[in-house]
Amino acid sequence: MEVLVRAAILAEPKEISHSPLKLMEVPKPVPGDGQVLLRVCACGVCRTDLHIVEGELQHPRANLIPGHQIVGEVVGGATAQLRLGMRVGSSWIGGTDGSCWYCRHDQENLCDSPTFTGYTVHGGYAQYAIARADFLFPLPDALDDLHAAPLLCAGIIGFRSLRVAGVQRGERVGLFGFGASAHLAIAVLRAWECEVYVSTRGASHRQLAESLGAVWVGEATEKPLVELDRAVTFAPSGNVVVAALASLRKGGVVAINAIHLDRIPEFDYDRLLWGERQIRSVANMTRADARDFLNLAAKINLHPKVTSYPLDHVNAALAELKSDKVDGAVAIIP
Ligand SMILES: [Zn+2]
Ligand SMILES: [Zn+2]
Repeated sequence: MEVLVRAAILAEPKEISHSPLKLMEVPKPVPGDGQVLLRVCACGVCRTDLHIVEGELQHPRANLIPGHQIVGEVVGGATAQLRLGMRVGSSWIGGTDGSCWYCRHDQENLCDSPTFTGYTVHGGYAQYAIARADFLFPLPDALDDLHAAPLLCAGIIGFRSLRVAGVQRGERVGLFGFGASAHLAIAVLRAWECEVYVSTRGASHRQLAESLGAVWVGEATEKPLVELDRAVTFAPSGNVVVAALASLRKGGVVAINAIHLDRIPEFDYDRLLWGERQIRSVANMTRADARDFLNLAAKINLHPKVTSYPLDHVNAALAELKSDKVDGAVAIIP
């Protein structure tokens, strides 16, 4: 007899206030060649999920199960490296072709035919999920399921953003927006002895930034009193990107940690970009980013602030994320 399990399904993208995700019973997935079956212990909620369910990222898989920060226990398709009962993480990059120009040049984050977890294949807003064995990562023991979940995209891609911005030890770094990803990035920056400046909307976000060691906090597009070496923007807003650019010294870099932006407004080249300032986007992640970040997270005892929701309340969880009502990260416990 077919075993049914619970999952949140996106039949049609809609504004989150219309509850586009429906809780349903679906057949328990069966792992194919090279795949592992995971019992989902927790699944982080990411702003990208919101862009998918609201239709800003187009053409998701039909009847999609979103969610790409999966903490899972291996319960099927085990291998020598991924033993039965082991706890592993699955992230946004669910697979690459391994053969395109980018894969052959150490840039698998830019693969021409990638698989994205919870977008082009089913993700972790469910009791069970399948994932490619070679795209799973062992998780630090020190963190329980709930606290490990946000490391898997918010953490890894925040870490990649710092790399893309070219952050060096001891530099002045601005974080524009202070949600799940930024509240993990600040811990990495503090471990690198950087001075961190945080511009964000929301008094509670500013408070959290201060308590995590920011030397200065301000409003969403407010400029620190000193010039920054690097900045990372997290808000899906082009105005914030321009504000970050305006805060840089000559030669400084802004990395945009957002898969979708409302727009890039017109800005003054002579004043804002001249002087070899750079704007760079951050696209996806490589497995090396994931491994390096997870090792560092274990070493510095990174401990995210996470609010949990049951699977039944997944629409509410996404709505809270959209309205910036939660501090830190959000995760579903199915
Ligand atoms: Zn490729
Ligand atoms: Zn994500």
